Amino acid sequence: MSLSTLTWTHRFAGLGPAFFTELQPTPLPSPHWVGRSRAMARELGLHEDGFMDSDEALQAFSGNRVLPGMRPLASVYSGHQFGHWAGQLGDGRAILLGELPGPHGPLEIQLKGAGLTPYSRMGDGRAVLRSSIREFLCSEAMHALGIPSSRALCVTGSPAPVYREQVETAAVVTRVAPSFIRFGHFEHFAHSDQHAQLRALADFVIDNFYPVCRDMDGNPYAALLEAVSARTAETLAQWQAVGFCHGVMNTDNMSILGLTIDYGPFQFLDAFDPGHICNHSDTGGRYAYNRQPNIAYWNLFALGQALLPLMDDPQQALEALEPYKTLMPAALQRRMGAKLGLSDVQDGDAVLTEDLMKLMARDAVDFTIFWRRLSHAVADVSVSPAAASAPAVRAEPVEAPLHAVRDLFLQREAFDAWAVRWRQRLLAQPGFDAAATGARMLRTNPQVVLRNHLGELAIRAAREGDFAPLARLQNVLEQPFEALPGHEDLADFPPDWARQIEISCSS
Ligand code: AMP
Ligand code: MG
Repeated sequence: MSLSTLTWTHRFAGLGPAFFTELQPTPLPSPHWVGRSRAMARELGLHEDGFMDSDEALQAFSGNRVLPGMRPLASVYSGHQFGHWAGQLGDGRAILLGELPGPHGPLEIQLKGAGLTPYSRMGDGRAVLRSSIREFLCSEAMHALGIPSSRALCVTGSPAPVYREQVETAAVVTRVAPSFIRFGHFEHFAHSDQHAQLRALADFVIDNFYPVCRDMDGNPYAALLEAVSARTAETLAQWQAVGFCHGVMNTDNMSILGLTIDYGPFQFLDAFDPGHICNHSDTGGRYAYNRQPNIAYWNLFALGQALLPLMDDPQQALEALEPYKTLMPAALQRRMGAKLGLSDVQDGDAVLTEDLMKLMARDAVDFTIFWRRLSHAVADVSVSPAAASAPAVRAEPVEAPLHAVRDLFLQREAFDAWAVRWRQRLLAQPGFDAAATGARMLRTNPQVVLRNHLGELAIRAAREGDFAPLARLQNVLEQPFEALPGHEDLADFPPDWARQIEISCSS
């Protein structure tokens, strides 16, 4: 493996100079490795011959060496931030290097934190170690959870100072996605009346990522809006089902491919609180956990407005957006049902789920631990000696192991009453099989998610030059459904100090 064997392509650059500025990354002084994703390297064919251990890779992925075939650029976009039109934004600290072939097509490789661009505005073009580690870990964790997301190949760090609330140090994340095009790219060309560019961008996205939109009857751009809405609905359902809060759902942070992108003040819920606000800067709670699906719709509406110049009639946009209102709740109910061990969706399921969520909210039950224990309550009964010797027990799952779930509630009788309803629903499934259902639940409800305090501990160690805790956490997050002996601490309740962690937009 050497430089010359990499074949870089540049589809986005083919759109022309209205879409970006070509520039060089700013070198990062004395770079060192912070983290690498072997899984991502393998998908890009970068794992052979120790390439990801080479100085060449270290220099390339910290922005110090532009490899032959790379064509670095920063793209221009605009967007709505916290509900207000923010005008031109753009890649203020991200630099696209080009694409490398991936298993399902070309993948864009982007350096985040690689220096100033024409779109840096007041920023310094840099990213700090703390937020770079969080983005790196979460990208790979989300992928392992099966949630559409940009990926991360590696993080490099440097002693170079970066000034935020305190002096911190610089880092660069190498991000990977089929495309980093955002809703904000479309808004940019619509709001600046560059309709030829708007059309070119929409055609680019359709041709490369949504080719079926071309073949359908009617306006292809309305079809694109509907397809983006459908993907966004699925992603949002997955966020809600796993307890993920994005934190900054501005339209410039919304992927046209429905990917989770731009990891900032995100958080996985600890104690369940539907109104949880993870971003310390979000004083109004616009991006609270339970508002995310509606905010996604608001953002899709902004995308629809941006696409209006390409439609024959505004009604087409409204019709394209309409399905989101039923797709999102349906996708969410399907996923919540799967978390409960249900193999299909029936009429009473929404109420059953809502009643549970109310109990969990009232008692601030730990979100991840609840679902994992519930899964075990079904799975373990089928492997217990009692179950094996007395087959009748199989039909009566979850009597004894449910204690561990019950213990999570303060108002246990209320939980018991709910559990009776749940058990009835579970057992009424034709051919119910506790072992198979439990195994499915254990593959649906993760054992470990990237809780704030886990990231924080990895960051503290990395600041001291110890990257082993980060690597251990990364390894566990890459297998979130597995019980990993020796790593039980990563699946435990958060410590009290976790509540004091404040994550803001500062990154
Ligand atoms: P975000 O909401 O964090 O995704 O960023 C919003 C906008 O601010 C984007 O255009 C970013 O590129 C830009 N930005 C954020 N931080 C910096 C920075 N340190 N330097 C330059 N631009 C930045
Ligand atoms: Mg952003």
